[in-house]
Amino acid sequence: FAKSEGGDGFRFFSAEMNRHAHERMDLENQLHFAVENQQFELYYQPQFSLPDLHLIGAEVLLRWQHPEKGFISPAVFIPLSEETNQIYKIGEWVLEHACEQGVSWIREGFPLKRISVNVSAKQFQNKHFSELVASVLAKTGLPREKLELELEITETAVMTSPGDAGALLQSFREGGIMVALDDFGQGYSSLGQLKNLPLDRLKIDAAFVRDISGDMHDKNNGAIAAATIGLAHNLGFQVIAEGVETQEQLAFLIAHGCDEVQGFYFAKPMPKREFEKYLRDWL
Ligand code: C2E
Ligand code: MG
Ligand code: MG
Ligand code: MG
Repeated sequence: FAKSEGGDGFRFFSAEMNRHAHERMDLENQLHFAVENQQFELYYQPQFSLPDLHLIGAEVLLRWQHPEKGFISPAVFIPLSEETNQIYKIGEWVLEHACEQGVSWIREGFPLKRISVNVSAKQFQNKHFSELVASVLAKTGLPREKLELELEITETAVMTSPGDAGALLQSFREGGIMVALDDFGQGYSSLGQLKNLPLDRLKIDAAFVRDISGDMHDKNNGAIAAATIGLAHNLGFQVIAEGVETQEQLAFLIAHGCDEVQGFYFAKPMPKREFEKYLRDWL
């Protein structure tokens, strides 16, 4: 009996694995055509300065509208696209369209100080990345000081042995392109290396903003967010908090001298038209 149960268990397990592998392959194949078939769309989430709450810019967030499955989260397809090297093509599409959109908004007179584009570790570590950035800027005409690269490199070799990455970051800075470190505090990031990296901004991960509960008797309340703000300023970086959802969180961040914020408390990421309406109403 035990043996047959074990056998069934194994068959079930392997069928399950098979199904997952198939789904993954399906998704991978379909992702391959998503760029050509215009299934990608950029959403924009506004970012604000503190304490005056001026709208300063937007983070660009990719959306995949799958013809059958509907909306698929970037938290699912970005990691998949990295494993299959499709991130290069996708990342190029994002960068180009974000810069194009930025130029057109600036021409229309929207006073946007910057457009922040997410860049995954794999993209950043590609040796042609800086050429890509330069060529997209040249092609679209976006002034370089309007572009910010939001690097998701906290858990990677870039942080443990920065070497080349430091030089690349330096070249971006000298070229006037801003660089922010995304998801700061998430996973392992080497504090020792942080001081050697030429960055403009640290982005406090949403998890630490969520820790700000408004409960003044909880001594851990917002401790990491507050420490990160202090650390960033001591190292000469600005700091932005993501995932701000409540008035209490906003008040805490202002009280601790955080420079900028974004989150559902202000606005969700929006498609182009809606973001334009938001800009008009806000300004
Ligand atoms: P991220 O860069 O850390 O982006 C923040 C995520 O938090 C976004 O999810 C955003 O929609 C969401 N968010 C913003 N405000 C709030 C809030 O107040 N509360 C909560 N609960 N969530 C909030 P999204 O758009 O699903 O993106 C997930 C991740 O996918 C991003 O995390 C980023 O790592 C990746 N991603 C998205 N677009 C791109 C892209 O164009 N390129 C690359 N390489 N990665 C991207
Ligand atoms: Mg980001
Ligand atoms: Mg990110
Ligand atoms: Mg994040």
